[in-house]
Formats: sequence, structure tokens, C-alpha cells
Amino acid sequence: MEKLIFEISSPGRKGYSLPNLDVPDADIKSFIPQEYLRKDEPDLPEVSELDCVRHFTRLSQLNYSIDTNFYPLGSCTMKYNPKINEKMAGLPQFTGLHPYQPDTSVQGMLEVLYETEQALCKICGMDAFTLQPAAGAHGELTGMLIVRAYHTSKGNPRKKVVIPDSAHGTNPASAALCGYEVVTVRSDKAGRIDLEALKSVMSDEVAVLMLTNPNTLGLFEKNVKEIADIVHKAGALLYLDGANLNALLGVARPGDMGFDVCHVNLHKTFSTPHGGGGPGSGPVGVKAILADFLPIPRIKQKRSKFLFDYDAKRSIGRVRAFYGNTGVIIRAYCYMKLLGSDGLKDATFEAVLNANYLKTKLKNDYRLAVADEPCMHEFVLTGKDKKELGVKTLDIAKRLLDYGFYAPTVYFPLIVEEAIMIEPTETESKETLDAFAETMIKIAAEAKSNASLLTGAPHITPVRRLDEVLAARELNLRWKRPGA
Ligand SMILES: *Cc1c(COP(=O)(O)O)cnc(C)c1O
Repeated sequence: MEKLIFEISSPGRKGYSLPNLDVPDADIKSFIPQEYLRKDEPDLPEVSELDCVRHFTRLSQLNYSIDTNFYPLGSCTMKYNPKINEKMAGLPQFTGLHPYQPDTSVQGMLEVLYETEQALCKICGMDAFTLQPAAGAHGELTGMLIVRAYHTSKGNPRKKVVIPDSAHGTNPASAALCGYEVVTVRSDKAGRIDLEALKSVMSDEVAVLMLTNPNTLGLFEKNVKEIADIVHKAGALLYLDGANLNALLGVARPGDMGFDVCHVNLHKTFSTPHGGGGPGSGPVGVKAILADFLPIPRIKQKRSKFLFDYDAKRSIGRVRAFYGNTGVIIRAYCYMKLLGSDGLKDATFEAVLNANYLKTKLKNDYRLAVADEPCMHEFVLTGKDKKELGVKTLDIAKRLLDYGFYAPTVYFPLIVEEAIMIEPTETESKETLDAFAETMIKIAAEAKSNASLLTGAPHITPVRRLDEVLAARELNLRWKRPGA
């Protein structure tokens, strides 16, 4: 176990060597007003440079990362992020820009933003995009504000947002944040939105239906055209939570399915290492009828010049300072350029193939959450039968850590008891998928023969099973010197 740097500290040890001060100490102190001078030394660790480097290098090696291992994390699209994207986003010509520079001196950056918007319009079948939102959830809020502005412009903002029971928790949160009442619509036995249930909740009070397609069970909503008709007939709009766009790239376009507004998660579908809270990017695309409501500024091209346009009377205003997380946007731009339209389509086909391959490998040892039909880019298992052996889905997830795998998404979607949600992505090799499947099968056998191996897991990780309730209730991350 790695000690804290305070615990390896030794009084007087230094991590630097500097020449002696060649001006009197008192001189320096006289520059700073008395009240700002500290009275005592700060309580900092005292270690040599080498010990400091080794300590932090060892800590970094405790990290799990996409560069070291597989993340079968459902709904998160944890794919390989080409290193060239990192290099491009790190170019000083980008990182050295200041957001207050005049448009004329940042033409290259504006061109990248403009072209990214255009490419997303093409991929999604939308008429206009904004790159401002900082993540998917922020995109949802932006989308809801646009929906509200649209209905308000027609005389009534309406009251309700309809959301399927399989949706991600950010959907109802975004709708509620925008002042809407959330109405849940149930899924049918097969795991898709129930059309009769949808019809029964639609009325002229409904502002929008927020749909995820493919949905969080990894199933394509085959009735999407019919759903769009039902929604539009009630004068409502259709919103796509585009977090699962990795199953559609180059194959099907939300705009063609009848969606009026959507967000995409650049950090998921279009590469960028993510997790741990960001940074992300959640651009929002709309059909022409909603374009006037997009956040300002918009990027426009006039003759061969790019500029920020603030002239939009019906805009919902800004949703973020400046113009979004440009570092993530540059990565997405490079990713799209690198793959091209054929490459993006291949990514989708391979993501779907990999998911189906894993699902087939696991379905004899684990129960599928829904009937066995081909899935899109992800699939969901249920640990219901394992529960009868005294093993919870959480125990299976923890046991995977012992074998060097990141745990899949668990207990989501909420409609599946003991859910285990797996998304391999297109970037994993057959060997990796096989190794993961073999491990999952081994764990299923352990559940039968020696359940305590699972309920006591993880056994070999740097920290064992944490008290998650205590961690959530007492969020105290500050170290205090014993006795202090
Ligand atoms: C990830 C995700 C979101 C939220 O996106 P963030 O970028 O994490 O804010 C919404 N819906 C689904 C289905 C997701 O997987």
C-alpha cells in the first residue's frame, strides 16, 4: 500500500537546491503588507525530489485507464482515443488562444468549429448545431430550453415532458430543471416504448418526448416513425438523447427518423478520454424550425471569413461562457476527419458486431434482460438468477476487478433487476473480448461453487470494498495530521 506523502515526509528534507538569496530577506518582506505575511510555516510534506517523483509515479500506476485495460462500461462508449487527436488538441496554435481575441485573429479555430458543426449536421440529418454545451446532460438542458422557447413562441410553453422508463437519469433531471413536469411512459415486454402507453399520455400539454435510440437496453426503437407521428400530431416535439450514436454513425440519421432536436456526446461517440467528471462536449442539433432558438453566438461564414454572430432575437441566449470545450471539439473534428464517412460507418458496424459477439458468448452463463434478439452496440444482462445463489450484481462487478477488468455499468437501466450493461465498442480486439467473456464465465462458475469469492471481492486491488454509503454521506476528503 502506498503511504501518503505526509507519512514519508522527514523534517528539513528538501526537493530543490537553489543558490543562496543574494538580497536581504527583510527587503522582500517589506514589499508585502504586514497583514498578508503568514506567521507560521505551512504544514507541507518535506521529501527529496526523487522520493516525490517515485511517490506520484507509483500512485499514477494504481490508476485504471483506457490506455491500460478494457472498459466494458455500458452507455459510456469508452473507446480507444487515437493519440493523434491528443497531439492536435495540444498544438500551441490552439492552446495558446485567448477567448477574447478578435474573430479575425482566430480564423483557424473558428473554421474547425464551423466544420465540426457542418459535419454533425450531416451525420445526424439536422439543419443546425451549437457546440456550446459542456456535456450530454448540459445538451439536454439546452434542448429543453429550446423546446420551451419554441412552444412559448407559439403562445404556450406547455407543461409536461414524456420520458420512457428506460431513460438515463439525466433526462428527467434536465426536464425538471427547465420547469417541466415529467411523465414516465413504460416499456413493453420486449424492452421498447409501449405505443399504447405513449398514446395515452400524449396531449396538448406535452412539450416533448425525450427518446434514446437505440435505447438503453441496446434495442433500436423500430417504431420510431410511428412514435414521431404520435408526438407531432399532439403538436409536441421529439428529442433524441444521442448518447448511443455509436450505433448509428453513417448508417441512420436521427433527422430522418423524425427527431426535431438532439444532443450528441462528443466525448463518447467521437473519442476523448472521459470519466471522472470531464471535460466533455454535448453539442445540440436542431431542425430548421428550431434554429432561431439556438444559443448565441452562432458561427457564420461570410464570403471566406468566419465570425461570431450575436444577432438572434429569438435565441435562448448563452448556455456557457465563450464557445464550449474546444479541446474536446478539436479531438472530435480530428476523429471525424481521420475516419471519414466510410470509417465512421465501419466503427458502427464493428461496435454492433462486437456487442452481439459478446452477448452470444455470455448468454448461456448469464440471463439476458430481454428476449434474445440481435442487439445494437450494447446489451443488458440480469443477475436475477445469481441472486438466488447469494450473489448480487455488485459482487460480480467487484470480482471482475480482481481479474483486471473494469466493471460494466450496473443497476442501470433501472427497469432491469440486477442489471449488468455491457458495451464493448468497436475498438476492442477479438482476443480482448474472448478474455473478458472467459472471465465472466469463470465468475459465473465461482458464484455456484464458492460465492464468498465474489461477496468478499475485490481481493487484490489497492483498496478493497469501500463503504459506499459512508463515502456518499460523509464526503470528507481532507487529510489531517494525526493529533492535529
Ligand atoms: C452519458 C449519457 C447521458 C449524459 O451524458 P453526459 O455527457 O455524461 O452528461 C445521457 N444519456 C445517456 C443514455 C448516456 O449514456
